[in-house]
Amino acid sequence: MIVMKFGGTSIKSTDDIHRIINIIRQHRDEMPVVVISAFSQVTNRLEKIAALSAMKQTDSAHNTARELFEQHEQFADALLSPQRKKNFLDEANVYKEQLQQLIDGLSLVGEVTARTIDQFSSYGERLGSLLFTLIMQESDLPAELIGVEKYLYTSGEYSRAVPLFDEVQNSIQKTFQPVLSNRCIPVTPGFIGITKRGIWTTMGRESSDYTASLIGTYLAVKEEQLWKEVEGIRTADPVIFNSTMPVEKLSYREALELANLGAKVLHSRTILPVIETGIPIRVLSSRVQPSGQTFITADTEDTGVKSITCKKDIDLIRISVPYHANGDIQLAHLNQFIRTLPVGIHLTLQVGSETVVLIDSKNATDDLIDSLKRYGSVEHITGTALVGIVGEDIGRIPDYGIKFVEALKGIQKGVLLSGASPRSICAVVPDSDSQNLVEKLHREYFVSHHATG
Ligand code: ASP
Ligand code: MG
Repeated sequence: MIVMKFGGTSIKSTDDIHRIINIIRQHRDEMPVVVISAFSQVTNRLEKIAALSAMKQTDSAHNTARELFEQHEQFADALLSPQRKKNFLDEANVYKEQLQQLIDGLSLVGEVTARTIDQFSSYGERLGSLLFTLIMQESDLPAELIGVEKYLYTSGEYSRAVPLFDEVQNSIQKTFQPVLSNRCIPVTPGFIGITKRGIWTTMGRESSDYTASLIGTYLAVKEEQLWKEVEGIRTADPVIFNSTMPVEKLSYREALELANLGAKVLHSRTILPVIETGIPIRVLSSRVQPSGQTFITADTEDTGVKSITCKKDIDLIRISVPYHANGDIQLAHLNQFIRTLPVGIHLTLQVGSETVVLIDSKNATDDLIDSLKRYGSVEHITGTALVGIVGEDIGRIPDYGIKFVEALKGIQKGVLLSGASPRSICAVVPDSDSQNLVEKLHREYFVSHHATG
């Protein structure tokens, strides 16, 4: 058995779909389970529809919803027989009506909650997986759609829901095994889940990778394959600059560190389920065939820098806690407060009375800054990016740090953050310097290294 996850970003045209169908066909004998996320741009559009509705821009919301259904119908027109197209439309029209009601409801209330956003987002994965299952059947692949309501029960922490692991494990085995035993191919949506009360949830943007990893772990598959637009994981984000190179192998810990430091290619939770079981993960491209790839396993054979990360839209908050007269510093209350923050913190570092917290800019609200002022004086720096290098052991070997610091030369304002992790070194620099720094680091650790052999 294997799990194959296909990202929605890579489903833009009928050619993309033909290519993916071929890839699945080639792996037919390995008993694949297929995980599909929403088609290209669909989740973004659904979030936009929710936002437009809440701003009472009802007509624009309805128009965007109409475009979204048309996008799916065009695929159905091109790729399905009249009968299967009818099957698709029967169900899609129910979704369409529900979405229209949601838009009208939200326009009345004028506000949007995480729970409502999840409800909106769920349509992307439900439509995409339904359509994709029918297209597989049309292509003579015995696909069977398994909805998450049969197995992916989660907590009610909307937009970052946590699976109810024991129940999910049981239900996955109960629902997927019989389908596989019948030599059929289970197809299921990623990203979404459902509470025990039947309310849709999501596990965070881009979390279809995580769905695939949960299924793979509980079915004890031989390998989890994440098929993306790009050819595996690269030495830096190819969107930032274009002379990156493929990374052939990574350890679980390195991949986790990369995801935590902001590499978008892998959802950060993906690695967690496989750490215990040792199931390998392969990241490949469905667009470039045959594809380069990255193989992620428990092994940590070689040291050295594997990849450079860059996460933008980060704020740095520095809290200086006052000393007591006897020289003590009281950090317990501050630490307690930071621990209970519900929002994604990227990094916390403490030395003496100084604490640095890195947080997504959108979460660095005035309320948060005011709360932190209870613990000491607060410096809030916006417009920064977190740039880092990742690789097994590099945090333990000073040479890597020396090169990193050299690359920071000339940057007027930067904060070096290092020491806690054995497998990364990073710095917070002004956004405007980040691209330059990534290129410099890349030259330093990869190009010159390769050129001199
Ligand atoms: N469709 C969702 C998103 O765009 C989930 C995913 O792609 O993994 O975030
Ligand atoms: Mg995606």
